[in-house]
Amino acid sequence: MHSKMKGKNLISPYLYIGHACNNNCLFCSEADSKFPKKTLGQIKKEILSVRKKYNFINFMGREPTLREDFFSILEFARSKKFKKIGITTNGRLLSYPGFAKKVLISGVNQIGITLNGATPKTHDFLTQVPGSFEQTLQGIKNIVRYKTKNQSLLINFPLNKVNALELNRYLAMIEKLKIKETNILHVAPLSRGSEKKGMIIQMRKGGNIAFNSAKIYIKENRMKILLVEFLPCSLEKKARKYFFPCLEKNPQKIRISLCKKCPYTSKCDGVLKSYIKMYGEKEFKL
Ligand code: SF4
Repeated sequence: MHSKMKGKNLISPYLYIGHACNNNCLFCSEADSKFPKKTLGQIKKEILSVRKKYNFINFMGREPTLREDFFSILEFARSKKFKKIGITTNGRLLSYPGFAKKVLISGVNQIGITLNGATPKTHDFLTQVPGSFEQTLQGIKNIVRYKTKNQSLLINFPLNKVNALELNRYLAMIEKLKIKETNILHVAPLSRGSEKKGMIIQMRKGGNIAFNSAKIYIKENRMKILLVEFLPCSLEKKARKYFFPCLEKNPQKIRISLCKKCPYTSKCDGVLKSYIKMYGEKEFKL
């Protein structure tokens, strides 16, 4: 859980444990947040709180693999017998085969890796770290190679104005790597870096690009693809069943007038204020 999410009723299975990152993504939603370094003791307590409510947990926040006690955290989680233990990572440390194997024998059974483009040029431009594309790609290859059939690998593609036209190439590339699952995420204006119009793609436009690229893979059952945070009212009707909400509640979301008659209100919490400020609400239709 993020420091802003503390509180009895806000225990989330998505536990923020990272405090630093070896990428510096231009659109990072966490860039403006302070992530004070939690102690191992604090994290263990939080894991116990999560366990009381959930049988799964996901370690995330900045770059969790950079913690020197990362494996102690995984070991502790494993001892609590979660059904699923996941990590969300930029995958760069997984490019070291020894590190990737160690993660895979630590009880982790869900790995989510983020790729920002289909080419080193785009990915490294967005991460601001030369060589990060090659490392992340190698990390993906290592996990594909060493994981067992009970361990899942999901690739996250944060869609923005810079990488949108590489989506087709990205899908073809990950299919070749034998990836079976990807999330295409709408990058939202959640930080100073991402509040630039040059980064955030209009949801309807991005949603069209995402669904048009994804539909053949979905139809032919070649890959499971979800459109994360492309709100149903921004998508064409056929695409709406692939909408998936961000699982963390965001207090910056507000209801728009359409929400009153929308059938998706149980899954969708509304639109971010910062998005409406940027693009208004004209694009949303039921
Ligand atoms: S609940 Fe509101 S924001 Fe969400 S899809 Fe429906 S109309 Fe759009």
